[in-house]
Amino acid sequence: FSLYSVALTLIVEWLGWLFCRLWPRKISRGPLKEVFFFPTEVACTERLFTPDSPFPCPLPHNVNTSFTRLLGHILSASSSLDLCVFAFTNLDLSWAVLALHTRGIPIRILTDMDYTLITGSQIGAIRRAGRCDSGTVHMHHMFAVVDGRRLITGSLNWTLTAIHSNKENILATEEPDLVLPFITEFQMLWVVNDPARKHLPSIAEKTASLVQ
Ligand SMILES: [Zn+2]
Repeated sequence: FSLYSVALTLIVEWLGWLFCRLWPRKISRGPLKEVFFFPTEVACTERLFTPDSPFPCPLPHNVNTSFTRLLGHILSASSSLDLCVFAFTNLDLSWAVLALHTRGIPIRILTDMDYTLITGSQIGAIRRAGRCDSGTVHMHHMFAVVDGRRLITGSLNWTLTAIHSNKENILATEEPDLVLPFITEFQMLWVVNDPARKHLPSIAEKTASLVQ
């Protein structure tokens, strides 16, 4: 009898081990939680936008870097992108936002008034989607909400230096308790910075007046 129960125990334990081996993630993982750090190694990002590009390229491909993961999160948007950034001069990120715009995905961008007029700012290129915070203190947030359910936040500004030189961090999550306060904050800032409400020039008007 004891031999029989030992054999039974062993079989149960083996089945448990096998189950955990076969389905390890689905059981314990829960909503997306991902952290990545910068600076990141240089890798090709162009093929994310044009996978069939015939042009030769010397940069490493099919490399999973912090930056390609960040771009992947942005490009994964299928219904909306809400973006709140102090500085936005990174061309790859600008192309990602424009690619979503071309796909007809609604985009809202909040940025700092002082920073939009700095050389290299990409806000002008996507100005119709944007509103500026022109308060007396800086709008120093850096977060994005993709499809109203995926939050990307951290120290990283959307600049070239931040991505390839600075030590920065990014957290991506779909944990509702973390995502919802950011959606509320964005909505509040979006309403507060409505140009019609503030009687202040929108980014579109501001940029237009600069061009003239
Ligand atoms: Zn390439």
